[in-house]
Amino acid sequence: MSTVSSELRVTLDGSERVVPAGATAGQALEADGRTVIAARVNGELRDLEHVLGDGDAVEPVEIGSDDGRAIMRHSAAHVMAQAVQELFPEAKLGIGPPVENGFYYDFDVAEPFTPDDLKRIEKRMREIVKQDQRFSRRPVSDEDAREELADEPYKLELIGLKGSAGSEDGANVEVGAGELTIYDNLDAKSGELRWKDLCRGPHLPSTRVIPAFKLMRTGGAYWRGSEKNPQLQRIYGTAWESREKQDEYLRLLEEAEKRDHRRLGAELDLFSFPPELGSGLPVFHPKGGIIRKVMEDYMRQRQMEAGYEFVNTPHLTKSSLFEISGHLPYYGEDMFPPFEVDGTDYRVKPMNCPMHNLIFRARGRSYRELPLRFCEFGSVYRYEKSGVVHGLTRVRGMTQDDSHIYTTKEQMGDEIKSLLNFVLSVLRDFGLSEFHLELSTRDDSDKFIGEAADWEEATEALRQAALESGLELVDDPGGAAFYGPKISVQAKDAIGRTWQLSTIQLDFNQPKRFGLEYQAADGTRQTPAMIHRALFGSIERFMGVLIEHYAGAMPPWLAPVQVVGIPIGDAHVPHLEKVAERLRGRGVRIEVDASADRMQKKIRNAQKQKIPFMLLAGDDDVAKDAVSFRYRNGEQKNGVSIDEAVEEIVKAVEDRVQV
Ligand SMILES: [Zn+2]
Ligand SMILES: [Zn+2]
Repeated sequence: MSTVSSELRVTLDGSERVVPAGATAGQALEADGRTVIAARVNGELRDLEHVLGDGDAVEPVEIGSDDGRAIMRHSAAHVMAQAVQELFPEAKLGIGPPVENGFYYDFDVAEPFTPDDLKRIEKRMREIVKQDQRFSRRPVSDEDAREELADEPYKLELIGLKGSAGSEDGANVEVGAGELTIYDNLDAKSGELRWKDLCRGPHLPSTRVIPAFKLMRTGGAYWRGSEKNPQLQRIYGTAWESREKQDEYLRLLEEAEKRDHRRLGAELDLFSFPPELGSGLPVFHPKGGIIRKVMEDYMRQRQMEAGYEFVNTPHLTKSSLFEISGHLPYYGEDMFPPFEVDGTDYRVKPMNCPMHNLIFRARGRSYRELPLRFCEFGSVYRYEKSGVVHGLTRVRGMTQDDSHIYTTKEQMGDEIKSLLNFVLSVLRDFGLSEFHLELSTRDDSDKFIGEAADWEEATEALRQAALESGLELVDDPGGAAFYGPKISVQAKDAIGRTWQLSTIQLDFNQPKRFGLEYQAADGTRQTPAMIHRALFGSIERFMGVLIEHYAGAMPPWLAPVQVVGIPIGDAHVPHLEKVAERLRGRGVRIEVDASADRMQKKIRNAQKQKIPFMLLAGDDDVAKDAVSFRYRNGEQKNGVSIDEAVEEIVKAVEDRVQV
């Protein structure tokens, strides 16, 4: 907006102010460029050097805010690309967006980067940061941009995509729908051009503002995410608003690395992913199999007590079932492709609900039977892209502890409340104790089906249940599935990471599509409310989360081997076998290490296997009919009578204590 007045009326961070004509956002905000690093002008993120117009509303963007971090991280990506092109002049630029906790940039180079290259690049970056180069925005015409970037084939391609590039392939980092801009890096003193990049911005005022960064790793990445395109080399970095934040993040990463369930799964001999089976298809070894069994037995027992009924359904079905359910148009891409048998298309099932609906529909239902709670450990198969498959937490074949609950409208509220309590009590038994809830609801968009009144009622019922739980509730408007609102339980693990676990999901779609009905007390035919509930999510994923939460040191009730007997010499083996016999009689999983290893080695092995209890025995113990009781943390009690030892172990398992 042009103005002849020498003053502008603007709204600064909510209050009306007058600033001189020609003032930049940074001047108006009196930004120091260190903590306030950009501005939001009329809702759009802008550089501090953005010149204001009359009537603009300006808000500061702090470096530690989500927007501020993204701008700072993306600016760090520019610095990295500059360093790479200074050290490797042949490198061509792909894209360089901010990502969670950091940034990356893709490069077309003849050879992949080595760890040594990363060190050199990082060193060069530190020099660029110190040089205090200014990020300067310059609008260009499409033709000028093409001419300036004639050496950058990927950037040229992006210019051609202007306005049409989706966010998924990241292209919209560089070009939006409006005018093209190039960001020049200018020397602080001489103003000389040091480097430039096609980019929408905004950026930090200067390279010097980046408080802390580190290059993390490299990897291959196809241009624009397609295997048909050339493979580029991606360098990932992390960047933070302070050194302390970065150190904290790096410590967390290190801790997470130690707890990585994929590594622990191999070390503890729990499961593996044989390449012969294909990506995302785990097999459980005996020790992982025992953990699964304990989890399932526990859930069966709890569900039995809570009035669930056990059903069972096949892995395969005619494709047409998913036409009835309405999943095919919405969910088809996440399913394995159909295959033909006897002239009919079949699918492996990605979910159990349609089959449970058929069981509900198999005969007439009366209100007296409701709530009807079907449950099943149902194996489902989902087509996850190979890039997102991750250990047990993102697999292609999984077993859900799945349940579908059918209620009358009147029962729905109470059922949801008791269901939420049930879910939380189960999670607490597994040793998770810090939760918050997320309530996903509809918004105004037209993707949601069902009556407004039904949505309101169901949302209210979920909200009431959530409020009564006393847990923190985060609203997620617009985040509901098209067919109904849901609550998801988010749990914090031992190192503060949040995992989405259980979901309680209302469904207005399937009961109608399957024509589910029950006879009400007044004799009329009514449609039941349907609740989907997966508590573990899947057994695989939940086990992965537990392994990371416990860093592999499962509490006694879940540990594959709960006790190991360690004789000081061969002569003490029979004594420990006698103890083992008694413990086995009480359902305890115990092994006696009668190998030729020395005692210290046996103790180390048991520690490596993260076995909760060790029972040591020497001459004294045999004489006194006792054992030496050693815990996973290294503590030891000597001369414990066998009776006492047995009772302590049995009680620790029964009480699900965490040691
Ligand atoms: Zn940029
Ligand atoms: Zn379901």
